[in-house]
Amino acid sequence: MGFSTDAIHAGQSPDLTTGAVMTPIYMTSTYAQEELGKHKGYEYGRTHNLTRAALEKNVATLEKCDYGIAFSSGLSAIHSLMMLLKSGDHVIVTDNVYGGTYRLFELIMKDFGLEFSWVDTSELQNIEKALQPNTKMVFVETPTNPMLTISDIKLIANFCKEKKLISVVDNTFMSPYFQRPIELGSDISVHSSTKYLNGHSDVIGGIVLTDKEKIYERLKYIQNAVGAVPSPFDSWLTLRATKTLAVRMERHSKNAEQIAKYLSTHKKIKKVFYPGLEDHPQHEIAKRQMSGFGGMISIDLGDIEKAKSFVTKVKIFTLAESLGGVESLICHPVSMTHGSVPKEKREKFGLTDSLVRLSVGIEDVDDLLSDIENAMS
Ligand SMILES: *Cc1c(COP(=O)(O)O)cnc(C)c1O
Repeated sequence: MGFSTDAIHAGQSPDLTTGAVMTPIYMTSTYAQEELGKHKGYEYGRTHNLTRAALEKNVATLEKCDYGIAFSSGLSAIHSLMMLLKSGDHVIVTDNVYGGTYRLFELIMKDFGLEFSWVDTSELQNIEKALQPNTKMVFVETPTNPMLTISDIKLIANFCKEKKLISVVDNTFMSPYFQRPIELGSDISVHSSTKYLNGHSDVIGGIVLTDKEKIYERLKYIQNAVGAVPSPFDSWLTLRATKTLAVRMERHSKNAEQIAKYLSTHKKIKKVFYPGLEDHPQHEIAKRQMSGFGGMISIDLGDIEKAKSFVTKVKIFTLAESLGGVESLICHPVSMTHGSVPKEKREKFGLTDSLVRLSVGIEDVDDLLSDIENAMS
């Protein structure tokens, strides 16, 4: 099936009792048992929920893999991946990942005996150099937040296969519509479904996808044992949203490409970061592994005062954290999403005080362009 057909149908069939076409929201914490040990396969809401199961099957189909495991947030999904490891294990991580991932690894998981090496994963040799005898996982975010640096998924997945490491890609920025890491050889793709998958800025959620049965079995166990499951209602909202993922992503990307081109010729802007621009350092890899360039753009205004004034002068772009919703958002990563990353670390990969990040929505692009133009002047 094509992507849009799967997006609308996968994981869902008319309800057995009533024929309801849309998957019901199974708001129940428990299930009746006929006699001791005899039930319909459902025992307790943390372990089994049909609305959640429909979402898991749906997104797994979109990522072209067998298994999905949904969580209550992107970070609880990433945390569950850390639970695959043991004290003393070492993980190689992309240096400019989402700030919350950095905080989870560096300020929490380290206390449980995990070791992390932060490297620029856009060059395979940096991963090779960081390899240790106790390395167990390579965790890559591509494109990164907020620098939009790209790592070669296939190259890294092959390296991980050879060295027997678990390869993970945080695929939040692209969604399965534009990028499918498992098809490229990765073991695991993880999303904050809060962003493009749900796309309407009204749910916090996460999901892990894999085609490895062993990893799935363990994660399913962890999902139940740790208990960071999404609510039936949040699962339902996200399932509703993936139906329009293809059309939303097309529009996000079309709008962003137009805005990035406009910004790259603008005199008041020092630098534009967008994988679709030919001067993006990994533009060629982007073209190879992504079928679109997405809706995220970062711009360096050269001066923190200009950045501060720009983010408050735009009117359609709302000043807020998060991304990937139908509405356009703007944020100042240093003071908002990336506050927990130390200054010298940030500046090493270009995350300056004057950097502003745009999450381009699906409004009319002419309105977005004039909003930017007005704020600039
Ligand atoms: C938002 C985000 C996360 C964290 O997800 P939550 O749903 O906020 O917990 C992880 N990775 C990336 C790339 C994100 O943008």
